[in-house]
Amino acid sequence: FNVPVPVNEPILGYAPGSKERELLKAAIADARSKQIDIPMYIGGKEVHTADKGKVTPPHDHQHVLGQYSKGDKSHVQSAIDAALAAKANWENLAWEHRAAIFLKAADLIAGPYRYKLNAATMLGQSKNAYQAEIDSACELIDFLRFNVSYMSDIYKQQPPVSPKGAWNRVEQRPLEGFVFALTPFNFTAIAGNLPTSVALMGNVVVWKPANTQIFAANVLMQIFKEAGLPDGVINLVYVSGPDAGEVIFNHPDFAGIHFTGSTGVFQDIWKTIGNNIHKFKTYPRIVGETGGKDFILVHGSADPEVSSTAILRGSFEYQGQKCSAASRVYIAKSVWPAIKEFMIRDLATFKMGGTEDFGNFINAVIDANSFNKLAKYIDAAKADSSVEIIAGGNYDNSKGYFIEPTVLVVQDPKYTTMCEELFGPVLTIYVYNDEAYAEVLETIDGTSIYALTGAVIAQDRYAIEQATHALRNAAGNFYINDKCTGAVVGQQPFGGARGSGTNDKAGSMINLLRWVSPRTIKETF
Ligand code: GLU
Repeated sequence: FNVPVPVNEPILGYAPGSKERELLKAAIADARSKQIDIPMYIGGKEVHTADKGKVTPPHDHQHVLGQYSKGDKSHVQSAIDAALAAKANWENLAWEHRAAIFLKAADLIAGPYRYKLNAATMLGQSKNAYQAEIDSACELIDFLRFNVSYMSDIYKQQPPVSPKGAWNRVEQRPLEGFVFALTPFNFTAIAGNLPTSVALMGNVVVWKPANTQIFAANVLMQIFKEAGLPDGVINLVYVSGPDAGEVIFNHPDFAGIHFTGSTGVFQDIWKTIGNNIHKFKTYPRIVGETGGKDFILVHGSADPEVSSTAILRGSFEYQGQKCSAASRVYIAKSVWPAIKEFMIRDLATFKMGGTEDFGNFINAVIDANSFNKLAKYIDAAKADSSVEIIAGGNYDNSKGYFIEPTVLVVQDPKYTTMCEELFGPVLTIYVYNDEAYAEVLETIDGTSIYALTGAVIAQDRYAIEQATHALRNAAGNFYINDKCTGAVVGQQPFGGARGSGTNDKAGSMINLLRWVSPRTIKETF
């Protein structure tokens, strides 16, 4: 079968007065006017419990959008049982029928669910309309459609050579067991992609989203059901990390984890899996995208306005809460004054507030923990006379978790905020002497444990070449004359190595190949 040739979903602009803006506003008003009851989904059934957690918008934390049912170890066990019960039928279903379900899910998101899912992302995760559109609409639709095409490429791979008298073939079997999908708050697209890419390849899934992402996860599950996903293929539970871990990482049928989240959690999971390795039937697949300390390097030949735009967008879109966001920037002294002027000019136009007002570019950070952590870093910078704060520096959590976009300029390229992952709208700049380009390349490569994204801005081709080579291991996604965020499915496969993950590129054939276990068959005639 030939699957549809995927094309990237066009981004809607939500211009004032447009029909799409009205529809999105109506979806937001509708979501805000209710207090919904959010169940877990196990074996296709809605599961409610007496223990409830609240869902509130990070930018308006007194407003309750709903409550979700919290589960415990028994729910994790039921989710595994339901997954294993669904496995035989699901893996025996011809692949084009699995594909059809996820292509339909993509169409549902592109059509009737677009506004509901974007509204859920805007309210639940405090994303502005544009950021929600490129995430929960376009990127997720792209993941679903492109993955189907990569899957078909895998199944249609050139068979091995068969000499006369024999027929050699390779069968792409689903993994033996169930897969655990653990998804982060920052992208609804990732929350949708991690369980579905695994299921697409014929596997069954237990899915645990971040608590701060449940509002959108609930809509995703409704979409998958409406698209015809059979009961038990993806089971959605809201449980604590320790409860999930204790049941899943002790289960003989645990066959893999598809993870996006923090480096610390991923490393703890890896250790637990290692310690329990004798308990599993098979070596589990461990696929994870974790932290980042992403850089932008500006050479003396760079265009100052291009540099400023790349820095501001790369650092502050979605409040710097993309794994790919720039948080350490190295700028040549000769261009710094001009870049600084553009940055200060444009930062002054950034409005901060709730996502319901489409004029706000900056919204809230995700929760109180994140707010407190960022406030501490800002306070430490204020108290340090070697650090200059050229923009921002204020924060206020009275209504929502608001942190002003903050720009620190440091003397020491190894200052804490140049090294540690902050995951928020706090950017640190180090200004280097133009002649010290080779040294700054070494500093960038050696400063952080991460290697997710990075960018060089320059017009001098030799400088571009030098950076591309010297930083080849410092980023899995490297940009030349662009910001370091906004990878598009089918265009820039996404992922990094070192402390940033297993680099199994989300939305690629590499990733899907982790969810099959090939069997080679030789038949002699
Ligand atoms: N793919 C996203 C980007 O390129 C980032 C994903 C993430 O934050 O995990 O901006």
